[in-house]
Amino acid sequence: RGTSSFLIVANRLPVDRVGEKQWRRSPGGLVTAIAPVMQRRDGAWLGWHGAAGEELKPFDHDGMHLIPVPLSQLEVEFYYEGFSNATLWPLYHDVVATPVYSRVLWDAYKAVNDRFARAAADAAAPGAVVWIQDYQLQLVPAMLRKLRPDLKIGFFLHIPFPPAELFWQLPWRKEILEGLLGADLVGFQRPGGASNFVRLARRVLNLPASRNEIQVDDRIVRAEAYPISVDFGSLDQLVREPHIMTRAKEIRAELGNPDHVLLGVDRLDYTKGIGQRLKAYGELLAEGRIEPGEAVFVQIATPTRERVEEYIRLRNDIELQVGRLNGEYGLFGWSPINYMHQSYNREELAALYCAADVMVVTPLRDGMNLVAKEYVACRHDLRGALVLSEFAGAADELKHAYMVNPYDIDGMKRAMMTAMHEPPHELGRRMRSLRRRVATHDVDRWASDFLKDLEA
Ligand code: UDP
Repeated sequence: RGTSSFLIVANRLPVDRVGEKQWRRSPGGLVTAIAPVMQRRDGAWLGWHGAAGEELKPFDHDGMHLIPVPLSQLEVEFYYEGFSNATLWPLYHDVVATPVYSRVLWDAYKAVNDRFARAAADAAAPGAVVWIQDYQLQLVPAMLRKLRPDLKIGFFLHIPFPPAELFWQLPWRKEILEGLLGADLVGFQRPGGASNFVRLARRVLNLPASRNEIQVDDRIVRAEAYPISVDFGSLDQLVREPHIMTRAKEIRAELGNPDHVLLGVDRLDYTKGIGQRLKAYGELLAEGRIEPGEAVFVQIATPTRERVEEYIRLRNDIELQVGRLNGEYGLFGWSPINYMHQSYNREELAALYCAADVMVVTPLRDGMNLVAKEYVACRHDLRGALVLSEFAGAADELKHAYMVNPYDIDGMKRAMMTAMHEPPHELGRRMRSLRRRVATHDVDRWASDFLKDLEA
């Protein structure tokens, strides 16, 4: 197979290995959104295949051409767990944990970005469209442009882009900005991210810029917001299947049919505000505003980045908090919190969303938060309330959620109580409006808006 005229470049390939030689498409919106475009344009996807130290030849999987990029064990530690997840992740999420600044990690980040850029340069046909994804690969746009000035290069950042005052801390701020400016179009989740970026290009690199355009040599780089979304249609269809409703009822019964089921679904990440939301819930129990047996808070906390120190500490903290609250307020046969450190598939999650009266999404900072949009997409019954943090990207669009500041414990308590006791017509009014937004701004639209602007 030769080169491709449409290329996705991401840290991970969109497949997971099952068994020795079998692959399965990974869950997640990005793949769903991009797969049809890939098939139409005969595209290729370049990324790491998930096994350290292993080299693999390109292969095809359900209509997509996949090009594996190898990573050594040390690169997984330094480039991925290190610079990506211990430096950039906390810095870009408002420093809610302290970023690690280490030159060794930075060197690995540069080396891996260089490998991705070279692989992309080899795989792209003349004049191809190349779409680079996310914070692990911010140097690739400029590296690739240097090798292949003929390409159209887009970049999308899935996580927040921080305010200038915070980004300023980064010892490699200039290199990262120059890396991103190799693209023709840089996409962000929120307009604020785009304007932070433009401001930094102006102040750190002294480049001339308007509101959303930066001049780099003889090129114009555009910075715009493209809020990512979910596959509304397929979720909406899924929850209309009888077995999902049956499962939702079953889940409620397994929880002891409480009056109120509250739900949190997050990776166990310190950006998600899990501790704050449990604290608010705990105070409602302590004050007797939630009575024994009246409610269950189901907290799904999926395992993530389990070798990064900060995540080990977080897990200990959350599990201590859950244990204390259950020990303090539980009864025989009733625990106020149902905590699961496990990962669930799409159908089980959909059933859980349908079983939950109140979806509690309270990140301290989040690029978008797809869980909030999935909940909305699953509630065609127009029941259910969404409590949503102002600091999630989704807050720009989901205006009819019960908005909270996750640092304000009293405010969160009020929002949870209101959401639990709201009359059905008010829930319906809000949910209808939320659904209209997500239905018209689904993940297909996200991908096509970005690509239309890139190719314009
Ligand atoms: N998810 C999942 N199984 C789980 C928990 C979450 O498949 O047990 C999915 C969820 O449906 C959503 C994604 O993981 O699509 C989480 O995306 P989000 O934007 O909310 O947060 P992120 O993890 O990307 O920070």
